[in-house]
Amino acid sequence: MILVDAHCHLTHLSSTELAIVLNQAAPVKLKTNDDHNQFQSIKIIYILGGTDPQDWILQTELAKQYPFQVIPSFGLHPWWVTQTEQEKSLEQALDQLENQFINQTSLIGEIGLDFIKAQTQKEKDKQIYYFKQQLNLAEKYNKSVCLHIVKAHNEALNIFKNKINLANSKGSSDPTESSALSRSAHAKNNSTLINKSAATLRTPPNRPITGFIHGFNSSIEIANQWIGLNVFLSFGPSICKAQNKKIINLLKKIDTSFLLTETDISKTYDLSNNVLSNNDLSDNMLSDSEISKHKISKHSDISKFSHHTIYDVTQCLAQHTNQSFTDTAQTNLTNLETILKRSLS
Ligand SMILES: [Zn+2]
Repeated sequence: MILVDAHCHLTHLSSTELAIVLNQAAPVKLKTNDDHNQFQSIKIIYILGGTDPQDWILQTELAKQYPFQVIPSFGLHPWWVTQTEQEKSLEQALDQLENQFINQTSLIGEIGLDFIKAQTQKEKDKQIYYFKQQLNLAEKYNKSVCLHIVKAHNEALNIFKNKINLANSKGSSDPTESSALSRSAHAKNNSTLINKSAATLRTPPNRPITGFIHGFNSSIEIANQWIGLNVFLSFGPSICKAQNKKIINLLKKIDTSFLLTETDISKTYDLSNNVLSNNDLSDNMLSDSEISKHKISKHSDISKFSHHTIYDVTQCLAQHTNQSFTDTAQTNLTNLETILKRSLS
């Protein structure tokens, strides 16, 4: 059986932890009705989330080392966009993305808008600008996208709808959003020099775009709007928290053919203290009981934690959507294959 971890940051793990996670296939006892008391070997496919050029280099190495398990994605994370002050560094990163990395993946990510990180209008505009530039690259090179959208769904939806309208109106172009003209206007505003030929290259042709939103956390109305635009939704370990009623209710109502599972694992585990060292992970992703359930003992290994985490998310998704574990895993894989436009089994 193949499980899909549609979004994680394995580049943040130490090499020892990585080797343990990726070199072992875990036999798992399936608890669901259809597979009760059956032991199965589970293979996991990990889709990495890209953040910045340094991370892309690490991802490239990892994908070479583990070509059947790890799929890289390259993009400028909205946090990185916000914290990078030099406009020149951001433009160079876009050039690097287009000239060195884009042909090594079918997924651009994680890109998007995070209006908790960006608070002033200037910060928001900056995120929007680099988000649009990367969407343009995705369109131009026929790539899918992994989206990070926090407190900015309406803005992101509008950007997507505009793109789709443009793609539908054959032969049109968008002088205000995606052209070299707009890029040089942006450069003028920011008193920096942007390479005009590179800018022209990034002007997209008219082709609709697809992908998924990682760690989806919004309303059913927003979810349905994304699905209407052919964008998939990925859910993480927070769906295993009983108190997370909003998302659990959403999963009961949603079109299950558009869902994915993820862990978003992003920090190193503190193996020496036998506890998880990442506060984000413990606070946001797993309840106390789940942490004690998966607590890494001196003699157990990290792979158990990792496998059981995506195993648990798949199991929780199956429960909330009233599907079998096997069907849920299969739908996740099919969805991932649709997004990546290739077969993985
Ligand atoms: Zn991420």
